[in-house]
Amino acid sequence: MMARQSEVYSWIRPNVSQLKPYESAREVVQTGLLLDANENPYSHRVAGIAVNRYPDPNQKALREALAFFTGLEVENVLAGSGSDEVLDWIFKVLCRPGIDRVAIAEPTYGMYRVMADIFGVAVMESPLDQNFQFRAASFLQKVTEDVKVLFLCSPNNPTGNLLDEKEIFEVASEWPKPVVVDEAYVEFSKRPSLSGELGRLQNLLIMRTFSKAFGCAGLRLGYVLAGPELIESFLKVKAPYNLNSFTQEEGVHALRKLDDLAREVSQILEERERVSKHLEELRGVERVYPSEANFLLFQCSEAARVCGELLSKGIVVRDRSSVPGLTDSIRVTVGTPEENNVFLKNLEVCLEGGAT
Ligand code: PMP
Repeated sequence: MMARQSEVYSWIRPNVSQLKPYESAREVVQTGLLLDANENPYSHRVAGIAVNRYPDPNQKALREALAFFTGLEVENVLAGSGSDEVLDWIFKVLCRPGIDRVAIAEPTYGMYRVMADIFGVAVMESPLDQNFQFRAASFLQKVTEDVKVLFLCSPNNPTGNLLDEKEIFEVASEWPKPVVVDEAYVEFSKRPSLSGELGRLQNLLIMRTFSKAFGCAGLRLGYVLAGPELIESFLKVKAPYNLNSFTQEEGVHALRKLDDLAREVSQILEERERVSKHLEELRGVERVYPSEANFLLFQCSEAARVCGELLSKGIVVRDRSSVPGLTDSIRVTVGTPEENNVFLKNLEVCLEGGAT
């Protein structure tokens, strides 16, 4: 059942739909004799980029580049300071604290729950199955009226697998409320983004980021792809100048270097394969999960001790053992071949319980 436009508007919190947003100086006029925003008129540059003027609050050039890159319209795109800022907008626009709940398919990225806690929004758990798959039928069976948004992550962090797209389509067709698919790692997976489905499924929101495959984690740039009504609301609640001039320009620049992106992704995928095989051969590694992302999740005995010993050697991996369903599990990012070799060599020593 596809959401009608009026239905989309009904999801938006009354405070937001009635909000008269702040009108920033650069909203309308960006060129001319600019004496309206109390800026310093003298040129200041950081890494060649002018910073004495406020950045474009509408992110025109960046949104046009993102629209071209994703095959969508400018009205379907909005960029945030990392996709974590996008999460903030989703809660602000859609979730009434103390009234609405969100559904989270765990084990998954921890920020969905943290955001819910910050906003005073209760969580309905809709756990992934033993293969870390989302099952639309079991969600649909237990979902209650107060659940407003479903968060899915594909490829999923920390398990690394893609969620079955049939299940995502089923839930987004049957459940007429917003379904967020976080595609932070999609560039490393064999399946393209689900952004092409946005026209068909008006309740689909897709989150993507420049922090992973694009190699720009320090830039802080993520974006949401959604229907124009939701993008309009996100524009209303975002800080007027949420993206600095540097990030906007570098984002456009990164989208022109897709050859670099493809080359680096293919190197990382080759290494993912090699590290995965090597891990499987190590005594003490009980299981290496298949990955569609730039990290590997594996199970080994005494994960906490292993992580501690690796850390004492300056090798930082993520102990995920405290995540429900992931006992003795470690998540390791795929690095350069040299980094991966150091990790593997030291891991082998730790697993033998010896010292280097
Ligand atoms: N989604 C997932 C699944 C992530 O793993 C991360 C970062 N670890 C993010 C979103 C946040 O990314 P960003 O740097 O764009 O805020």
